[in-house]
Amino acid sequence: FAILSILVFNACNPGTSNMNKDAIDKKVEALLTQMTIEEKVGQMVQYNGFYDATGPAPSDGNAQKKYEHLKNGMVGSFLNIKGVEQVRALQKIAVEETRLGIPLIFGLDVIHGQKTLSPIPLGESASWDLKAIEKSARVAAVEASAMGVNWTFAPMVDIYRDARWGRVMEGAGEDPYLGAKIGVARVKGFQGDDLTANNTIAACAKHFAAYGFVEAGKEYNTVDVGTSTLFNIVFPPFKAVVEADVKTVMNAFNIVNGIPSTGNSFMQREVLKGMWGFKGFVISDWASGAEMVSHGFARDLKEAAMHAANAGSDMDMESYAYVEYLVDLVKEGKVNESVIDEAVGRILRVKYELGLFDDPYKYCDEAREKELVCHNDHQQAVLDMARKSIVLLKNDGKVLPLKKSQKKIAVIGDLADDKTSPLGSWRVSADDETAVSVIEGLKKYTSNFAYAKGVDLVTNPVSFVTELDINTTDKRGFKEAVKLAKKSEVVVMVLGEHGFHSGEGRSRTRIGLPGLQQELLEEVYKVNKNIVLVLMNGRPLALPWAAEHVPAIMETWHLGTQSGNAIADVLFGQYNPSGKLPMSFPRSVGQCPIYYNHFNTGRPGNSGDNVFWSHYTDEENTPLYPFGFGLSYSDFEYSDLVIDDADQKNIKVSVKVSNVSNVEGEEVVQLYIRDRVAAVVRPVKELKGFEKIVLKGKESRTVTFLLTEKELGFYNGEGTFMVEPGEFDVMVGTSSAEGLTGAFVLK
Ligand code: BGC
Repeated sequence: FAILSILVFNACNPGTSNMNKDAIDKKVEALLTQMTIEEKVGQMVQYNGFYDATGPAPSDGNAQKKYEHLKNGMVGSFLNIKGVEQVRALQKIAVEETRLGIPLIFGLDVIHGQKTLSPIPLGESASWDLKAIEKSARVAAVEASAMGVNWTFAPMVDIYRDARWGRVMEGAGEDPYLGAKIGVARVKGFQGDDLTANNTIAACAKHFAAYGFVEAGKEYNTVDVGTSTLFNIVFPPFKAVVEADVKTVMNAFNIVNGIPSTGNSFMQREVLKGMWGFKGFVISDWASGAEMVSHGFARDLKEAAMHAANAGSDMDMESYAYVEYLVDLVKEGKVNESVIDEAVGRILRVKYELGLFDDPYKYCDEAREKELVCHNDHQQAVLDMARKSIVLLKNDGKVLPLKKSQKKIAVIGDLADDKTSPLGSWRVSADDETAVSVIEGLKKYTSNFAYAKGVDLVTNPVSFVTELDINTTDKRGFKEAVKLAKKSEVVVMVLGEHGFHSGEGRSRTRIGLPGLQQELLEEVYKVNKNIVLVLMNGRPLALPWAAEHVPAIMETWHLGTQSGNAIADVLFGQYNPSGKLPMSFPRSVGQCPIYYNHFNTGRPGNSGDNVFWSHYTDEENTPLYPFGFGLSYSDFEYSDLVIDDADQKNIKVSVKVSNVSNVEGEEVVQLYIRDRVAAVVRPVKELKGFEKIVLKGKESRTVTFLLTEKELGFYNGEGTFMVEPGEFDVMVGTSSAEGLTGAFVLK
């Protein structure tokens, strides 16, 4: 890792000056005075890429138009331009052919890596390892910047609670405290310490706001949330990354309480730019400006442009609203020129901060591109991240870890031999077939295994935008799989979702194993119960049958480029699993949305009569696997919970954690509180601290947390932060559902 740290952590400054903020403000002001209204509006326009280095095809009218706009200084940014050659070609036009030579900023969805992929963000989040997550983002930034990109549309810091929503794969899960910490780690990883370096890139927190609360998990659906939920659950990760100096924020497709996010002045102007003092710029989501017409908020694209600009959406991504109408709107007095100046000022400031005015080609170095993309050290880093992301959900100790001496292992499932699905969704630059498959990973440990697919997971060619066909009825492969299982000691079944079963536009109402996989699992179980179920998926799955019957279950998400190696390391006990779920796994889809930090109803428990309490008549109230849950090959015990409230400003909570096994392992020690009575009702539990520790066999350690006003307070519906005296419950433990409990009084 020595070389990696040089490559990844020393953000090298290629001679660009590190201007302080005042100096940048002055430059921005000076430049603004030289700009025509058309040029200003141009800075607020982002186009999807069209270039193939030889220029736009003559037959492509749209591309020709963009090209003309670019040459006239009417474009501020492009997205989806990949590779130094193309970035340089466009930058050259902006810098050398336009009147003012303002450089372009190039954005791309670098969500979990550029070419070398880390696990999907939900998977990474299961590591609860902020350093590793930061490093993973750093690797992504190094590769993306080497390919000319200087701005990523990540991290997604949306909080969400519904496993039906496809984009749960892209964020950090259901909890705002964990989500804020992880969001900040990712921003730090992308932006580094020095944004003027050529291997750091601007980050973008998205989607502002509440996109994760789309009703029933249906993509792009209505969002109706109270202000208490907005301030306490939705906003905290955004606020945290703004405090960590995230350079840009993306708004969202959805409406929030009747107002589209893109035209939402309360959120963008009052909260983000006002209360939080955000200094960067806001980019719309893809054509989200235009979507305000469908929402019924704007009569036409022109009115949409007016609403978006006035509400503080600074740059328009591909809806053509600004480029077509903003100049006229200013002339007509419907948008004040000061609104434009403010937006452009923000955009220019970020360009200055990136050092683009000093050296617009600083990301355009073919030698760097060749050297750094898919660098060996990056493979090591994503392997490390992949191992840390695996969550052991069940282990009866009889099959796992596998022994190298194991004579006959059956490997079953389409995903075991898949080199593409493990890459996961949102991999806009990585090529198909570049993941290490489970079979390839296993080969490093043993040759004593045989493979049978069993059944096809999908039956059509799949891409980012095609629907997946899982409706196969072809069970011909069952026979071979069952036969193989029968004559084997252990069966490793790799089942779950295709890489594109989750992601944008991938909401699902059935969240068990897609297609015939469940049936295959049950058939195999009939002949051999020694099954290790290796799950690959981009969302929590509801698998009550497996949880009851299968002796060992490993959640591996979509782990990225090094998937198979990481999975094999855990299967054979070379790596001791340490992940914890960042999102609750339901027993059945009817429980969704299900999350640990819910409120009590007026009838939280069964107080005598069985019928009239808050429950379903056909399902338990608890999740299948709770938030924060994950096993290890070690056994940890918690004891000696001590709460010291003598210093009321710093309530001290400590606990002894012992590894009672002989196996070294890592444990994420979690602290939850409950404010028993408050002016605004508080959840039954809220995560307020965690620490990941390594314990050798038989080792013990005392872990101490501090609770300050920051952790003990909450927001009321007006967004005012309050700390109230009263009784607090404390729980410290191994998951949100299990721990030692105590209490204290805040006077
Ligand atoms: C997504 C964004 C993404 C953008 C650009 C949109 O469809 O919602 O998250 O950054 O496309 O690709």
